[in-house]
Amino acid sequence: MTKREMEALKRRKKAMYRRRRIAVFGGFLIIIFLIYGVFFLMGKFLGKNSTSGSSSETSQSSSVSSSQQSSSSEASSSEETSSEENSSEQSSEAEEESSSSEESSSEESSSSQQTTTSNTASSWNLILVNRANPLPDDFTVDLVDITGQYKFDSRAADALKQMLADAEAAGQPMVLRSTYRTKARSEELYTAKVQEFVNNGYSQEDAENEAAKWIAPAGTSEHHTGLAADIVSAEYDADNWDLVEDFEDYAGFEWLYENCANYGFILRYPKDKQEITKITYEPWHYRYVGVEAAKEIMSKGLCLEEYIDLIS
Ligand SMILES: [Zn+2]
Repeated sequence: MTKREMEALKRRKKAMYRRRRIAVFGGFLIIIFLIYGVFFLMGKFLGKNSTSGSSSETSQSSSVSSSQQSSSSEASSSEETSSEENSSEQSSEAEEESSSSEESSSEESSSSQQTTTSNTASSWNLILVNRANPLPDDFTVDLVDITGQYKFDSRAADALKQMLADAEAAGQPMVLRSTYRTKARSEELYTAKVQEFVNNGYSQEDAENEAAKWIAPAGTSEHHTGLAADIVSAEYDADNWDLVEDFEDYAGFEWLYENCANYGFILRYPKDKQEITKITYEPWHYRYVGVEAAKEIMSKGLCLEEYIDLIS
């Protein structure tokens, strides 16, 4: 073999090694890409699972949660709709405000069916009433008796009754202090509260502002909706004639706070939301908003104003 042939052979060998190295390296890269691809797809798949799990809290699970509820509370929206039909005659004789109830109840029954799938700020159960949002003049509601003098929106009455029954079964009998209130009744209560502050040396204007933190002026009270209830435990009721913050120290409050959302109720005026609600902390005041909204509001520690902002 000549020198030239030897060199040519070496060159060919070198080239062969180079090609082999490139092939090995390329193969290595392809394997890495494949592994990466598999992990990527797995990650996507797992990620999808976990997000659909958490979003079930908000929208998709409304049917699931309400069907779970119906076993314990019999308060699903479909049942509310039927009770609404039964009650329309009862309440029309009782309340002067329900004169135009026939038109509105047909509108309301269709909207209450929609709330089984999603809440919107215009849902009947999410009506917002506060000082900045007085009740519309044409507002009407079908009321049914809860006990004795106490009346409640017929669509939410079963939920309230069930909550009270279950509280009693759990060893925490409750007492209603107020439910539906006419505007005239609110006016009386508000005027009395203003007078109380005037008697304590406040100017008329200061007294009105101060009183409004405790009793909403007529037209701005949530009690006009028939969806709000002042509830205390029988134990508290025996100790106190008035409604004071001390109720939060009673076991009955704990039961309500823990369980109200299961029946579609929220603690309407939480201690840490007074700046937003403009109402003093009221551990006794519960508002029906429906199970789906109530669970989100209570689990996230929101107030109704914040929740409505969130969904609108
Ligand atoms: Zn109240």
